[in-house]
Amino acid sequence: MDLVHDPGDVQFQLEVREFIRKTLPELFPEIGTPQWELRSLDRTDVHAWTRALDSRGWAVPHWPVEWGGIGISAVRRYILLEELSAASSPSLDSISIDFVGPVLYTFGTPQQKRRYLPRIRTAEDFWCQGFSEASAGSDVMQLRTTATRQGDHFVVNGHKLWITNAHFADMMFALVRVEMPGQRRQQGLSFLLIDMRAKGVSVRPILTIDGLHHISEVVLDGVRVPGENLVGEPGKGWIYARMILANERNVIAGVRSARRQLEQVRDLLQTRREGSARLLENDGYRNRLAQMEIELDALEVLELRVLHAPSGPDAPPSVLGPILKVRTCELRQRISELAIDALGDGGLEAQPYPELEQLPTDPVELAHLRACAITAGYLFQRSATIAGGTSEVQRNIIAAIGLGL
Ligand SMILES: Cc1cc2nc3c(=O)[nH]c(=O)nc-3n(C[C@H](O)[C@H](O)[C@H](O)COP(=O)(O)OP(=O)(O)OC[C@H]3O[C@@H](n4cnc5c(N)ncnc54)[C@H](O)[C@@H]3O)c2cc1C
Repeated sequence: MDLVHDPGDVQFQLEVREFIRKTLPELFPEIGTPQWELRSLDRTDVHAWTRALDSRGWAVPHWPVEWGGIGISAVRRYILLEELSAASSPSLDSISIDFVGPVLYTFGTPQQKRRYLPRIRTAEDFWCQGFSEASAGSDVMQLRTTATRQGDHFVVNGHKLWITNAHFADMMFALVRVEMPGQRRQQGLSFLLIDMRAKGVSVRPILTIDGLHHISEVVLDGVRVPGENLVGEPGKGWIYARMILANERNVIAGVRSARRQLEQVRDLLQTRREGSARLLENDGYRNRLAQMEIELDALEVLELRVLHAPSGPDAPPSVLGPILKVRTCELRQRISELAIDALGDGGLEAQPYPELEQLPTDPVELAHLRACAITAGYLFQRSATIAGGTSEVQRNIIAAIGLGL
């Protein structure tokens, strides 16, 4: 949908497009090919693209100017995100840029800011989020990981579960319970930065239903963490985590990936046939597609409202983020169901992304692999209404804040 009217914003859009047109193929020559569509990105790709964007101030444009931001307006940020997505550019590392970054520049010590923010801005470091545990998902307050103060260190023991990107992250921001010698265990949670290479950290892969390794369990066994890695005050970690959860909803909602998914389904309906007719000529498919396009248009406007709304620790609680998360994640699941229906028997096999060099050039084989990847994507979409807070929990928040129930 075209939300850009102001001449300055139009100019900005053209500038972004031109930058992408020139820079993306220089860094990734295979962009636009089926190989690109089917490949899985690695750290090197994300690092290279983040640095390229940073050269224009577009890696962390919404951060404070002191730490690399450019005071970007909500509309221009929206334009930037739209253009990057439309060009299928590599996704930046949101867990670092949008989750822990804002906590560090808002609540971190000067030393923490100097040490971590520049490395996040240029994707030198990748972070993972260590909140969930076996008994603490929706209700994080149930978590059991402890950080016991011993001199100038904490000794951390616990077991984190479902941790995205833990297998390649350099650092984890974790919620823990601090124990001080001679005092009762803190009731509140504390926010601690843990080096993933520290002794006592072990990462065990969990393969998800699509056959890929997105998430892991992380065992913390007597891990020594310097006292200076505590963010803010002990026992106040939930205040900092809440800021992350608000950002997390918007990122996980994934309005732009929904748009990409919908375009992919439209292509599928164009190419696949039922008898001699294309599926796109079938009223049932056309109606479903049109309905989803209308809903997505509305969600794009909602996302713009979310980007406009005040953020930060003093921002009033809002229902916009939870509504965006529930509606977009549920829509993404429906789009993936439409794709599976369109694939028919072709959707019976799911296969994770093959390595780039193994991809066949034969169009029939490529089409088969693409179908397998769509099915794998459909299966992984089941997690969209769980990760970052389940739909049931988001509805509770909407009921409490929005309806006063
Ligand atoms: C793909 C994926 C990636 C993830 N990545 C991370 C990560 O990087 N870091 C991290 O810390 N965590 C991560 N998680 C964990 C995620 O945050 C939790 O799975 C989620 O918060 C739900 O918690 P749970 O799995 O313990 O389910 P539970 O909280 O046990 O919920 C089970 C069911 O009960 C329902 N329920 C629970 N409480 C209520 C209530 N009050 N009212 C109504 N219904 C309720 C839920 O909706 C759900 O259907 C990830 C999860 C997934 C699937």
